[in-house]
Amino acid sequence: MDSKANDYHMLFFPFMAQGHMLPLVDMAKLFGAHGARITILTTPVNASIIRPTIDDSVHLHIISFPSVEFGLPEGCENRIFPLSIDLRKNFYEAVASLCHPFDVVLRDLRPDCVVTDMFLPWTYHVAAARGIPRLVFHGINNFSLCTMDAYERCYSLVGEAESFVLPGLPHRIELLKTQAFDLNKLAGTPMEFLKEIFKEMNEVEPKSYGTVMNSFYELEPEYVDHHREVMGRRVWNVGPVSLCNQDVTYKSARGGEQPTLASECLKWLDKKSRGSVVYICFGSKGLFSVAQLKEIALGLEASNHSFIWVVQNGENYWFPDGYDERIKGRGMVIRGWAPQLLILNHIAVGGFVTHCGWNSSLEGICAGLPMVTWPLFAEQFYNEKLLVEVLQIGMGVGSKVHDVNPETRPIIEAIVVEVAVRNLMGVGEEEDERRRRAKELGEKARRAIEKGGSSHNEIEKLIQELINWRKHV
Ligand code: UDP
Repeated sequence: MDSKANDYHMLFFPFMAQGHMLPLVDMAKLFGAHGARITILTTPVNASIIRPTIDDSVHLHIISFPSVEFGLPEGCENRIFPLSIDLRKNFYEAVASLCHPFDVVLRDLRPDCVVTDMFLPWTYHVAAARGIPRLVFHGINNFSLCTMDAYERCYSLVGEAESFVLPGLPHRIELLKTQAFDLNKLAGTPMEFLKEIFKEMNEVEPKSYGTVMNSFYELEPEYVDHHREVMGRRVWNVGPVSLCNQDVTYKSARGGEQPTLASECLKWLDKKSRGSVVYICFGSKGLFSVAQLKEIALGLEASNHSFIWVVQNGENYWFPDGYDERIKGRGMVIRGWAPQLLILNHIAVGGFVTHCGWNSSLEGICAGLPMVTWPLFAEQFYNEKLLVEVLQIGMGVGSKVHDVNPETRPIIEAIVVEVAVRNLMGVGEEEDERRRRAKELGEKARRAIEKGGSSHNEIEKLIQELINWRKHV
């Protein structure tokens, strides 16, 4: 690396939602490990989440968040905070109001470049006005971005068809209309405002310096190439970023420090045999109806496998009578936030039931685990396609309808959950082959960020290119 790397100052500005903030903080740490000087810009509540996972080499710069001014509860600075659907727009408006403080920060800190989330498209204009290059952080992978692009292009042709094949992609990807991540479905709902944000996002992304992706070349080579060559984007794949958290303390504190729970999980897992536990988690926003929770509970119980199940439902729990007693010793239910990286990487864990959020999917890949895929909304159905059809390390539970509302989402029955878990954890030619592929991908993931690995090289190349860019302006 050029000796100037350590005076190259990168400012990272994450969107305040766990699925966006955690990977961008990890990415910042990775660039720091390559010699760049790092500042992370955030707000007080988010700073308290980030602080236990960084060391002194990373500078946290804090600006206040106008929750109350925008009609939000005090302290509501992260999308993990439960908000009624009517208040979600206020959250995004409060975020966008950070435009001026962001400009003041750029004026005062004068970073050489900024890396900002896709949900902060206005940062492009602020940075451009100060002559600072902006890199976009996408919380998702190349495959999903290519799929979304293909969907846009065929949207008007889909008509009434129930399913359709996405045109021009390296694989034959067939999608049900109900699985598509289609912003047009938001028309007339309180979430319609998202369409405007996506519009702005799509306008400024091609003008930005480029895109940094939490992925690695060997995982989806055809789609990295497609993203670059067919969609014409300047893309650097620098992940899997979560692998920067090798230290147990960082793994347990990621997303919320809970040392007691982390040590309880470890103690519980230490007693289980290798690969015998299934981990079930639906990300930071995976809420379910009470009826669906009951089916999951019964399905897990009937599977006869040991499990850790994370339930994010706030106070809205429902478990069958005597459930806790019946699963005692075999099942652990975590209500709220779990130390996911710690659990996934424990030797006792042998399978992952996931909602297919990209971070969770990639963390499962890094841990070398086969998965049951249970997408709910956003681009999760596309990630499922990647895991099940392209990488062949996952199998679908049968979720077919993109629906953010847990109350209207079709129910997956206990028997289906039971069979899926049995297949995931079972032995047989197909199961072993899936396991072998998952393990192999996990090894490739680790190699990608090691010295000489593809992502390692991409980071070096990008920093060097940015340094050269600075010399010429
Ligand atoms: N996560 C965690 N504990 C939890 C739930 C989620 O550590 O109980 C982390 C998980 O490791 C991942 C992120 O939160 O890094 C969730 O991102 P993802 O893209 O999987 O899903 P989202 O929450 O955005 O739907």
